[in-house]
Amino acid sequence: MKTIKNLLTMLALMAFTMTTFAQTKVIAHRGYWKTEGSAQNSLRALIKADSINCYGSEFDVWMTADGRLVVNHDAKVDGIVIEEAQSADVFGLKLGNGEYIPALEQYLEMGKSLDTRLIFELKPHENRLREAKAVIDGIMMIERMGLNDRVEYITFSAAALEEFLKYAPKGTPVYYLNGDKTPQELYRMGAAGIDYNLSVLKKHPEWIKECHDLGMKVNVWTVNKEDDMKWCIGQGIDFITTNEPELLQKLLK
Ligand code: MG
Repeated sequence: MKTIKNLLTMLALMAFTMTTFAQTKVIAHRGYWKTEGSAQNSLRALIKADSINCYGSEFDVWMTADGRLVVNHDAKVDGIVIEEAQSADVFGLKLGNGEYIPALEQYLEMGKSLDTRLIFELKPHENRLREAKAVIDGIMMIERMGLNDRVEYITFSAAALEEFLKYAPKGTPVYYLNGDKTPQELYRMGAAGIDYNLSVLKKHPEWIKECHDLGMKVNVWTVNKEDDMKWCIGQGIDFITTNEPELLQKLLK
């Protein structure tokens, strides 16, 4: 009996230690693109983020006028507005490293062969209907490819946030990027937490504890300077999204 009691005490202590000192995790912003032969949101950048064992690799998603999901950051590439363009025109465009702009499916196929988590950002679309379709098609694609437990959704769009929370399988983390909702509001909506710009968290450091007290997580972007990284780590922020994942890893060691 005494042994069981001791064992339980030990387990409780371990759980306490793990929650108290849960280490900040590293998310590569648009992949690890500051590397040889890489480019933002390229397959190469995703592979690179995985190769240095990032917790996650973030990427940006748009839907073309003919309903194809593509991975790219900017709304407009070489004068072509992605959400108003035909996919054939978008897929003919090249990234800085010579890769073609990837279709989401192709990008996820690569992700499937890797370990890093897939941090799926849906960009706010001018056309709300297309944005809603992008949420649903994205969720269905993730499901079809067996990636439900590998993905986390993030978005600046309040409408897309609601749709992700409504349609993504229960337990899939959904975070809001726009910085204008309190932890309480997001908690009531069912979000996993906040994913806010560093300036927002510096202005509202109390939101970090509020989130944690509500059982939610705190992400911050895009933190590239050593001093800022140290501040975030000291605040117990759960995830840091950065263009400098190796610098952050070095600081966390
Ligand atoms: Mg992004």
